[in-house]
Amino acid sequence: MQAQLGVWYHYQMAQLRRWFQSHTWLRFAQKKKIASILKHITSHIPFYQEFAGSTFSHLPIVDKSVVQDNFHKMNTLQCSRAEAMNLISTKPMKLIAHQSIGTSGEPGIFLFSAKESIKASISVLKDMLLPTWLQRQKIAFFHLNNPYFPILEDLYFLKARFYDLNEDFEKHLFDLHSFKPDVIVAPVQTLRMLAMMKQEQKIHLDPKRIITTTEVLTSFDESYIATAFKQNVHQLYQCAEGWLGATCEYGTLHIDEEQYFLEKEWIDKERFIPVITALNRYVQPLVRYRMDDILVLKTKPCLCGSAMTAVEKISGRCEDTLYFPSKDQALRPVYADHIHQALRVVSGNVHQYQLIQYSVHRLVVKIQASNFLQAIECIEQQFEKLFFSHGLKRPLLEFVPMEALPLNQTFRRTQRLSKCT
Ligand SMILES: [Zn+2]
Repeated sequence: MQAQLGVWYHYQMAQLRRWFQSHTWLRFAQKKKIASILKHITSHIPFYQEFAGSTFSHLPIVDKSVVQDNFHKMNTLQCSRAEAMNLISTKPMKLIAHQSIGTSGEPGIFLFSAKESIKASISVLKDMLLPTWLQRQKIAFFHLNNPYFPILEDLYFLKARFYDLNEDFEKHLFDLHSFKPDVIVAPVQTLRMLAMMKQEQKIHLDPKRIITTTEVLTSFDESYIATAFKQNVHQLYQCAEGWLGATCEYGTLHIDEEQYFLEKEWIDKERFIPVITALNRYVQPLVRYRMDDILVLKTKPCLCGSAMTAVEKISGRCEDTLYFPSKDQALRPVYADHIHQALRVVSGNVHQYQLIQYSVHRLVVKIQASNFLQAIECIEQQFEKLFFSHGLKRPLLEFVPMEALPLNQTFRRTQRLSKCT
């Protein structure tokens, strides 16, 4: 009962802050929290003790490999990755880990105390639910390996069900029909699968809101899912490091700057790599942490009036950027969102595609299509235009059929395997 009231209170407070928050207030609150984090890390985190007395801007920028390689020196428990996993299995109510699904090397582990976890999930919850105060909402979460919290399962204003994608999908569909969720939260490819089933009338679900997580929402997927469910697709910017942002009622993705201080490492005039500092995490602080994502800044202010940074789109991970030689032989980047935008028009002929770059001269294009030859022709035309507009030499395009996607693995539509930079 007390826990329910606590969640309800924090949820309503978060809603109120959202309405009354100003840019000045936000920066003031961030400054106070950064001072507190700085004091905490230089006193309690071995990795930062040599920086005692330094200002925030003099702290090093770290990335996933630095954090994972120095894991034992970067948490208050001073435990190794193996010890942390052991602690989580023996004391799951006190410590929670988010794990990244590593595409190369060891997966990243990020620790949260149970309290930090609940606060973070409540902060995200306000962005997921429908803007109604009276109706008890039903929310269905499909997830890969990220923990969700039983405390959210049965509240007065919310009923949640969790569907593990490592389990039987057919069973989940059966349950989903009896549950009749108002909101579905799922990785992009799971929502795409549900969208396809809806188009084929194999499922009869009418959620009022659909939210994608985990994987990058490309324009190719967005238009397909939006058409099938006859509504805009919302996004939750979620990764192992935490929940970094969500779309507002106008469909703009805002970084959650109540939870994260954001610095921008600019790539060009509009694209940047986020460098984040978690403002409410003390067990394993994330301080000046360079993400592996490329974001495109929204230049026009969002109509919702939020003081939080607005993002036009998540372009993709840094490794999703492909590189090709230009006429003068210099390698130029082609960002994943440019490719997906160019291939958006082929969605009538292509059910699924995936691009894997093996070298600057060789690009493998995997496709699922009812008419394979016609699909090849459409994609070749779009690539011709794309490479011409970027002034690039066209690589050898190798078309192969694509197998059905396993939903229990994170899907990456674009991958650069070779060191092309
Ligand atoms: Zn907005």
